[in-house]
Amino acid sequence: MRFTKIVCTLGPSTNTKESIRSLVDAGMNVARINLSHGSLEQHLQTIRTVKEINEELKAAARIPTCVGILLDTKGAEIRTGDVTEKIQIKAGQEVLFSSKPLPKEKRTVIMVNHEHFDKDVLEAELILIDNGLLSFDIVSTDRKSGTVTAKALENGSIGSRRHVNLPGANLSMPSITPKDWEDIAFAAKEGVDFLALSFIREAKEVEEVRGFLTGHSARIALISKIETRQAVRNIQEIIEASDGIMVARGDLGVEVPFESVPAIQDDLVLSSRRAGKPVIVATHMLESMIDQPMPTRAEVTDIAHAAMSRTDATMLSGETASGEFPFESVGAMDRVLLATEEHITQNTAMEESPVENERAARAHAAVTLAVTTRADSLFVMTRSGQTARDVAKYRPNVPIIAFTDVVETQRALQLTFGVVPILIPFSSKDPEKTVRDAIAAGKAMDVLHKGDHVVLVSDSKAGDESVNTVQLRRIP
Ligand code: PGA
Ligand code: MN
Repeated sequence: MRFTKIVCTLGPSTNTKESIRSLVDAGMNVARINLSHGSLEQHLQTIRTVKEINEELKAAARIPTCVGILLDTKGAEIRTGDVTEKIQIKAGQEVLFSSKPLPKEKRTVIMVNHEHFDKDVLEAELILIDNGLLSFDIVSTDRKSGTVTAKALENGSIGSRRHVNLPGANLSMPSITPKDWEDIAFAAKEGVDFLALSFIREAKEVEEVRGFLTGHSARIALISKIETRQAVRNIQEIIEASDGIMVARGDLGVEVPFESVPAIQDDLVLSSRRAGKPVIVATHMLESMIDQPMPTRAEVTDIAHAAMSRTDATMLSGETASGEFPFESVGAMDRVLLATEEHITQNTAMEESPVENERAARAHAAVTLAVTTRADSLFVMTRSGQTARDVAKYRPNVPIIAFTDVVETQRALQLTFGVVPILIPFSSKDPEKTVRDAIAAGKAMDVLHKGDHVVLVSDSKAGDESVNTVQLRRIP
């Protein structure tokens, strides 16, 4: 079994039920829908299709048990305007950036969709377009007309709605835009498992979304995308306010010098692991497979590196959304993760995560028992999923079979390292009866076997009292 989870972005290449089903068979654990593209009607259709597949997986009662659904917001992006023809740029050329049309201007004008561009640009080192394919030195700003004069550093061209970054600037627009709020309300209404928040800069923004979702009684895990300098600086408070994070290397590699991305990635993975919250490493993992059936060796090594740092999940974007080889991409990621996990034999994770309370101490003890007694699996009973995440925090080298009676918990655990989430009814008040039901379900699904030595983490009855226990058991 694979411990590191795979998030796949759905899109034009993979929108049909058949192709989503093929992604599941190839190893997708969580389906990502990118709200930067498409309409809410299309996304609703996709969500319904994934939910249908979840019903079928449930009926099939086998592994994989379900797919989690992640909606990814657009966030506060600056983009260039629509053009009928690409704007050609020559190195050394001076151009004007403007948020308002300038009909009489003779120089080349690049329209941007941000009203305070001329003010925010003052803090920036450069203006980058298309994730840095084109860059401009800032020459001057004119407060009266609100325009910015800048000098091109490369030759190139600018199509419609290209991405603009201002590295170093603290944008005056809110990270969560009016469109995002509509999308967040959509997520709350349709019931998804994860909401990824783009361009988060501080914990306050995450808390605002949390407040909104609580007000709508929506139970959705909030994943903060770390893709700005401010977010890297405020990482501890952001992790505390979030249910998980994404290392969004695409934008991050433009906002900070690209050579610092690997070190930041490792720090972010470790910080999130220490907090016991899931972390996703994202973007360009198999970029060449968008139009090639084979990964580059450098991409293979990048995935392996992420797995060696014991991230919870790795992600595919364009590879599965719009590429020519979506299923081959998942297959390649699956193979690299499996081969790398086999290579990591030692359990080195335990000392890397702190034991700060009783819950954590119980999970730590369970993992110690599982590792030292060479258990076949950890066997966890959990309603909220927290016990499974507590155990996963110490990165055991055996699978965590998590039984829950809450279908939302089952899907939420699809993002967590090493967890196989299984839905069973917790129908009895007697915990031992529930454990017996779980053993029967686990055997039927071929994740527990007669004679297996397991470490069970659950409530038990001690007289009339319910107590937390860790038990060594042999599967009958
Ligand atoms: P995006 O986020 O694909 O939504 O831009 C990921 C990233 O920036 O890496
Ligand atoms: Mn991004």
